[in-house]
Amino acid sequence: MTNGFDVARATRPCWYASIVSFLLVASCAPQPTARPQATSLAADALLTPVPTAPPAKYDILLRNGKVIDGSGNPWFYGDVAILDGRIVAVGSLGNAKADRVIDATGLAIAPGFIDVHTHADADLYRIPLAENFIRDGVTTIVTGNCGGSVLDVGAYLARLDHRTTLNVATLIGHNTTLREVKGDKAGELTPEQMAEAKEIVRKAMTDGAIGFSTGLIYIPGQWSSTEEIIELHKIAAGYGGIYASHMRNEGGEILKAIDEALRIGRETNSRVEISHFKLPSDIAQRIGGADTTLGRVIAARNAGQEVWLDQYPYTASSTSLTTLLPDSILADGGDNAKKILSTPEGVARAIKEMREQYEVKRGRKHFGYAVIAGSRAFPTYAGKSILEVAQIRKASANGGAELLTSATQPSSATDVTMEDQYRTIIDIYLKGGAQMVFHTMAEQEVMDIMKNPLVSIASDSGVRQFGSGVPHPRGYGTNARVLGPYVREQKLITLEDAIRKMTSMPATAFRMNGRGLLRAGYAADVVVFDPKTVTDKATFDKPHQYSEGFTQVIVNGDIVLDGGKMTGDMPGGPIYGPGWDGVVKKRATTEPTTRP
Ligand SMILES: [Zn+2]
Repeated sequence: MTNGFDVARATRPCWYASIVSFLLVASCAPQPTARPQATSLAADALLTPVPTAPPAKYDILLRNGKVIDGSGNPWFYGDVAILDGRIVAVGSLGNAKADRVIDATGLAIAPGFIDVHTHADADLYRIPLAENFIRDGVTTIVTGNCGGSVLDVGAYLARLDHRTTLNVATLIGHNTTLREVKGDKAGELTPEQMAEAKEIVRKAMTDGAIGFSTGLIYIPGQWSSTEEIIELHKIAAGYGGIYASHMRNEGGEILKAIDEALRIGRETNSRVEISHFKLPSDIAQRIGGADTTLGRVIAARNAGQEVWLDQYPYTASSTSLTTLLPDSILADGGDNAKKILSTPEGVARAIKEMREQYEVKRGRKHFGYAVIAGSRAFPTYAGKSILEVAQIRKASANGGAELLTSATQPSSATDVTMEDQYRTIIDIYLKGGAQMVFHTMAEQEVMDIMKNPLVSIASDSGVRQFGSGVPHPRGYGTNARVLGPYVREQKLITLEDAIRKMTSMPATAFRMNGRGLLRAGYAADVVVFDPKTVTDKATFDKPHQYSEGFTQVIVNGDIVLDGGKMTGDMPGGPIYGPGWDGVVKKRATTEPTTRP
């Protein structure tokens, strides 16, 4: 059974679309057979109760809130009524009754947030409450990003039905596809492998994937030519799937990488989502700031290309330590890289290439910006930079000289060279690797990108195991950080615009029809929060802290966070993509591991 809000059903032409604004074209409500009032959805449905036989009693009635409906319009005072999983009325609902009345006086009522860039994947099987997302206002996610997804999309989506709090859509990953046909190796696909890869993408789309994702800094996708990606994405695009890309470069070659993503969109006749749009501060200085990168995207839009962006609101990024190693070492897969790096000649070759990459091209003096978030082999390194770990190693090698506690600048106490730090990276890699946090960006670019109207808010996070490791705080605080520090304190954007970036805009980009607005007929994904106190608490030092200020989170008409407490209900489930064949597949019984 599905939860009844699949995308496929809602992509039919709808007369409503022809008379309302661009934003609403893609958000035209589904035409469910079970709910007669939704079929009479009209332009005046926004502020008046649905006229056809209003029920005597609603399931939930949110009263007297500041309604921020997700469109970007200014807030208004009103009530929101929910029945059978849908919003059935928004406006002044007089003496209407409900099983549960929630007084939202002094609070904001908004659509549940839609996070289109996550890495939740099969972690939802183990941590189905996904509390880090719910307590940050998220009710719907897109996973399978950066080229890494589950392989069996049908089994995955079926498994989630009423077994998680969140509504979940997934992309099919390019790297996942390549790994299945040729492993983690460099080199073009053979014609037979290409046919096999296309079949994987085709099946994923008919099983319900929402599009195709790439992660072009990761192996093996980084070795794929643009043409190869175009050929594969043509399959997903043929079913109406979006192209979501972690670009080939987010540093010195970023403009080229943007051009590549745009070309893939043009040549596949597909819309494009550029993931976690950002700019390191050294590159910003070189190319003229975020105006230059945003300008590239705006020019494409002006030329008629549909392209969207998303962003997490932090000055540090996070990914695997493997991305610090030279491409040439990784070219024949992880096992081979380990073989190379276990010889002195291989290490020397790696160090030579790393010098070129970090010292010559980027002018790096140390790895104080690169902090270990978690490492199975070295749990005590969590929270320490590569610079600091190199210092600790050197100090203990020197007979237990004083260990440093914190270092983002080289310290005279225990001077280490770049070579010491390269060796530290290689050693950690050989012993199992690490998840990293990279402090490379500046507030200026984060703010310039956030202000752009094309940019939605997305966490780039997985499901967090509370207390485990020192992961990037974005998994806990992304939305609250925008609503507190950026909206309320710095007044960078308006509250209504921030909500739009978290709701109707991502719904439009990913064609999640019937979600992302507070409108009669829409899925009852709703958040209630206090705009005066909402804020993130998670920091880089202490990331395991939930956001504050959300009092109620409602998913498909069921309350999952109530009075700040999780109810344990799991009303979430699959959102099927535009190519879905309508058949719910056999649900997954094992938990696949995924990586970008
Ligand atoms: Zn990514």
